Amino acid sequence: MMSDDVKKPTTTDAGIPVASDEHSLTVGADGPIVLHDHYLIEQMAQFNRERIPERQPHAKGGGAFGRFEVTQDVSKYTSAALFQPGVKTDMLARFSTVAGERGSPDTWRDPRGFSLKFYTEEGNYDMVGNNTPIFFLRDPMKFQHFIRSQKRRADSGLRDHDMQWDFWTLSPESAHQVTWLMGDRGIPKTWRHMDGFSSHTYMWVNAEGEKFWVKYHFKTDQGIEFLTQDEADTLAGTDGDYHRRDLFNAIRDGNHPTWTLKMQIMPFEEARTYRFNPFDLTKVWPHADYPLIEVGKLTLDRNPTDFHTEIEQAAFEPSNLVRGIGMSPDKMLLGRGFSYSDAHRARLGANYRQIPVNRPKSPVHSYSKDGAMRVENVSDPVYAPNSYGGPAADPSLTDDAGQWYADGDMVRRAYTLREDDDDWGQAGTLVRDVLDDAARDRLVGNIVGHLKGGVSEKVLKRAFEYWRNVDETLGQRVEKGVRDG
Ligand code: NDP
Repeated sequence: MMSDDVKKPTTTDAGIPVASDEHSLTVGADGPIVLHDHYLIEQMAQFNRERIPERQPHAKGGGAFGRFEVTQDVSKYTSAALFQPGVKTDMLARFSTVAGERGSPDTWRDPRGFSLKFYTEEGNYDMVGNNTPIFFLRDPMKFQHFIRSQKRRADSGLRDHDMQWDFWTLSPESAHQVTWLMGDRGIPKTWRHMDGFSSHTYMWVNAEGEKFWVKYHFKTDQGIEFLTQDEADTLAGTDGDYHRRDLFNAIRDGNHPTWTLKMQIMPFEEARTYRFNPFDLTKVWPHADYPLIEVGKLTLDRNPTDFHTEIEQAAFEPSNLVRGIGMSPDKMLLGRGFSYSDAHRARLGANYRQIPVNRPKSPVHSYSKDGAMRVENVSDPVYAPNSYGGPAADPSLTDDAGQWYADGDMVRRAYTLREDDDDWGQAGTLVRDVLDDAARDRLVGNIVGHLKGGVSEKVLKRAFEYWRNVDETLGQRVEKGVRDG
């Protein structure tokens, strides 16, 4: 029986009308099911294949579509089409936690992914950022180990605070990011109430070929708001999808969130002599040295209609860089330049860029061909160079973005230390100069609570030292809180 509001006849995936949504084909009403009930078989087989591998990491998230509009003139810093005065560009954003699985609660303490895809007229530009301006590490060799330490143990399949603090305290470069994470901004109230950062330094190049080093800050226009640990714990039990729901409902109700993009811009030559390595991902550039320069506004105003197709299958990759924008010598960024595209090939297949949400709005004339699930036709010639009218590279459409001078022996070494390069200084500044007394109290409470969650004595001792290195008083308070509690 059809309900009143059903207008379209059900079909198979081949478009053939089906006889029933309810009854399998059987030998007599009470008899066995027959194998040639093609529609039943299609339903069961398709269902078994509905899940694709989840992202590793950043599995749990949500997203929406919108637009970026340039409100200022930054053409003296970049020739990128999407950053020219007045330009509006369609875009997609995805927000996420890092360590939790696809069904995990949104309100676990974790950095949040802040991934953007701009469908520019000169190709897709992706920025795979976070809600923090820094990261735990500065060399991609440690990334896999870091993520494993935050996920689950081999034996029990449980997350384990001992393993998390073991890794952090053996990796002092994590101190700034862990301080941030344990503070108020470690659990945003919603995705609408947090900032987004490129975190990495990128290069911008203007039309004259002049180069700059830049950092992106997407400042929330909703204001920063956070959840306390208690509020977050309650929500984790009552509404694990709290952040996903908030974004979807806000956009559905016409309450469109916006962020103002502001840049820090460093002249190319200053990077050589700046007092610390400006490409070190564990450090910010102080605003006093590089003030924020306004660029434009990002607005999210359209929800997905199919979460799987448009958000789960969205593939962001920091190697998608358009004219006027390039990478920097940040080793983490250089590593991510490979790992994201590789992850998408593994998760979605070699032709993931042909999935509509990933397809550029500008024309594609590449020589890629074949592979599983290819849906766009390739035409001859299939090689270059050729004399049959195939695409030919035009260097005038590109520039030197992402190119810099480098020379030296091949070595495995940390960045060369400069005068103000250390692991603790900026974390200490955050604790002493940015947080107020109430925020410092909450920071102590959050760290103590986390350390009391099953951390072994040998790791605890290192954790107390770690926090004393960040700030002597903070370290003492943390130790007292753990020992007295
Ligand atoms: P400023 O005083 O110019 O800036 C302080 C920054 O800290 C502001 O961006 C502010 O963001 C942010 N902030 C405020 N409260 C918190 C919090 N609870 N957790 C995290 N960040 C917070 O100082 P500097 O530029 O010299 O930086 C000092 C320290 O501030 C750094 O060591 C770093 O830890 C932190 N910071 C610096 C940023 C930068 O890009 N320079 C960016 C963010 C943090 P808001 O304006 O939204 O309140």
